Amino acid sequence: MQALNELVQQAKDTALGQATLSANEAEVARQLQICNACRYCESFCAVFPAMTRRLSFEKNDIHYMANLCHSCGACLHACQYADPHDFQVNIPQSMAKVRLETYQTFAWPKSMGKWYQHNGLWIAICLTVSLAFFITLIMMKQNSSVFDGTTVLGFYDILNHNALVSLFAPIFIFDVIALGMGLFSFLSKITPVTGQVSASSEASLEATQNMLTLKYLDGGHGEGCNNEDDAFTLSKRRAHHLTFYGFMLCFASTTVATFYHYALGLHAPYDLSTLPKMLGVLGGVSLLLGALWLAQLNLSRHKDHGDAQQKPMDLGFIALLILASLSGLLLWLLGKTVAMPLLFALHLGSIMALFLTLPYGKFAHGFYRGAALLRFAVEKRQPSQLILKED
Ligand code: SF4
Ligand code: SF4
Repeated sequence: MQALNELVQQAKDTALGQATLSANEAEVARQLQICNACRYCESFCAVFPAMTRRLSFEKNDIHYMANLCHSCGACLHACQYADPHDFQVNIPQSMAKVRLETYQTFAWPKSMGKWYQHNGLWIAICLTVSLAFFITLIMMKQNSSVFDGTTVLGFYDILNHNALVSLFAPIFIFDVIALGMGLFSFLSKITPVTGQVSASSEASLEATQNMLTLKYLDGGHGEGCNNEDDAFTLSKRRAHHLTFYGFMLCFASTTVATFYHYALGLHAPYDLSTLPKMLGVLGGVSLLLGALWLAQLNLSRHKDHGDAQQKPMDLGFIALLILASLSGLLLWLLGKTVAMPLLFALHLGSIMALFLTLPYGKFAHGFYRGAALLRFAVEKRQPSQLILKED
């Protein structure tokens, strides 16, 4: 215990000495020094093997490891140095705080990084503006009586396919550029601290597999992570899978529909027996169920998990996913009734708000985590620098 206390004091001094570290980064460095002496959680996830390759933690190491953490909670529930112990170790919480700094630091354009801090407000503004935009647009194309509950219109009586593409394509392209630029800057910072630049096909394949299966939400033993208490659960992993694959199916539906429209000359609306509709309905149901499940898990989460300050960002993103998928499914079911114009505005408004907020909200975490997992797959294939130094 004496030796560990000395080590902690040394870690505090080291962290304080690293003037360039923010308070959150210094706190991660302090806690990782304790973990490096303890190593009880070595087999839980990728963070700990990455940690044991280091004796001290510089800024870029900290951001790399913070994004390797999946916030599964396993190391908090296993930790003998967590609250009420004086060491106050809470790795998932301190990592979550640094992740928010990652998103802000690497946001593109830089000035937009501040919206991560006020993400709930950002989502509310985008949703209000988007809904108002589509309601006004529909009223201008038709007239105000379109919402009085007596008019039955077809989907494309209101806005045709080309108009929809011209509204959404620029936002989508901007999202790809903004997220791509952020990811590029992040990779350029964490690559030097994780070894060789190129990723072998073996490393890339492993990282992709770990991303798609969310391997590090299995608690390290396959029984799952922790959410509200010490019990292991696979709920978080499954809810993420439903949400992610639902989102991807909806994206595939839109892509196939675009191909049908421009390449095959087959125009919407499509029957349920067609590929775009099947993908869209399946994706919508999966996305809705996954997002509702994530909301329930987030609201029932243990009070010491994660960063409470980020709840509006988490819940705001989940709320947008629920609104977009639910309105899409209702639009399919009630598309030939008087409710159609209002559902149409609600669906397009929520999709537009979702796309406007994608690069500056919770959605970004998947990209940064994917980049960190790729670098981990590269790093673990190289000899440890510590062993090389000893030699
Ligand atoms: S989280 Fe706690 S138990 Fe796990 S390695 Fe760190 S100090 Fe040890
Ligand atoms: S919370 Fe889970 S993923 Fe994060 S460091 Fe702890 S065990 Fe690893």
